[in-house]
Amino acid sequence: MSTSEEDPSTTLFREYLRIRSVQPEPDYDGIVRFLFRVAEEIGLECRKLELGPGKPIVTLTWKGTQPQLKSIVLNSHTDVVPVFEEFWTNPPFSAHKDKDGNIYARGTQDMKSVTIQYLEAIRRLKAKGHKFPRTIHLTMVPDEEIGGHEGMEIFVHHPEFRALNPGITLDEGLANPKEEFSVFYGEKCVWWITVYCKGDPGHGSRFVENTAACKLRSIINHFLDLREKEKKRLKSDPSLTLGDVTTVNMTKVSGGVSCNVIPTEMTATFDLRIPPTANLKEFEAEIEGWCRAEGDQVTWVYHQKYMNQRVTTPDDSNPWWKAFSDPCKELGVKLNPEIFPAATDSRYLRQAGYDALGFSPMNNTPILLHDHNEYLNEDIFLRGIEIYTRIISSLASVPPLDGEQ
Ligand code: ZN
Repeated sequence: MSTSEEDPSTTLFREYLRIRSVQPEPDYDGIVRFLFRVAEEIGLECRKLELGPGKPIVTLTWKGTQPQLKSIVLNSHTDVVPVFEEFWTNPPFSAHKDKDGNIYARGTQDMKSVTIQYLEAIRRLKAKGHKFPRTIHLTMVPDEEIGGHEGMEIFVHHPEFRALNPGITLDEGLANPKEEFSVFYGEKCVWWITVYCKGDPGHGSRFVENTAACKLRSIINHFLDLREKEKKRLKSDPSLTLGDVTTVNMTKVSGGVSCNVIPTEMTATFDLRIPPTANLKEFEAEIEGWCRAEGDQVTWVYHQKYMNQRVTTPDDSNPWWKAFSDPCKELGVKLNPEIFPAATDSRYLRQAGYDALGFSPMNNTPILLHDHNEYLNEDIFLRGIEIYTRIISSLASVPPLDGEQ
């Protein structure tokens, strides 16, 4: 197929991929120019807000016929992660399309595809003359890939965000190598903990009692035993994903001054990712119990300790879930509700009390986000627009809920 016969949605996607919005110096000016131009073509209201210098947040709006109702917020981030060009078969910002329709570029999966799918779905709905009761907003935020600190983390608490009056927010998910589509309704709680073990020093030639190393060994055993237990649990049950188990990794160890001196202190740091279904209070008591058992010379510090376990209920008791999943059923799109194994901007949305679903409609696609030769097949991309067209229509048509009028 020559470029002139290419589906205009694909052409637009490839144009967006060519904008180098790559960390650490993303071309956000290029992004804003592009989004404003497309929004104007489609006929959406545009606003730009900067909460950090040079960190634009773009909001596009299609007003509903009952704008007092809660809105649909379609969120995406505009930045992409760095590339190692030498590992790419085609230049990562060329958006090369091969004979099978695979489009190669940084951001094809994470998550420029989704931004264009939102826009193209809305373009089609507007072109067909549809009108919906609920207002639809698209928010395009910077810096997700570096933590979102000047993006969604502060935007979510800003009066302009609250004024959007969100009922449900959608954000990125992950590709699924199988026929099913992954949809994420929560994420894991990240805990980083350093355990400090103090003990008696002495000469390396003797059996000194009460050493830091003996205590450290016991602590490490507890954490790594848990790691084995959770790894086995994941392997033994095919219905479980990484999001359902606690991952444990020892990420730093330190201590000691000399080869022949028993040191007074040794430390170990662990990275734990805990599913939101776990009882965090009990888990905390268990960990701290391991430390206390080694006596009062063992102390610990949390560098990160998320206690927020809010999830978006993935069943029909939640009208937003029903409105999201019903059109998927009609289209034969099989959804796998999962817990996100890492973190996205959705965590800020959920912490602020909003319902959020993470969905990037990419099935039969290897998970290549942040990887070399990231690609997405054109047919999968175009089908994603169809899927989003139906989901957006359904969400924007949810009748007034309790407390709305
Ligand atoms: Zn992403």
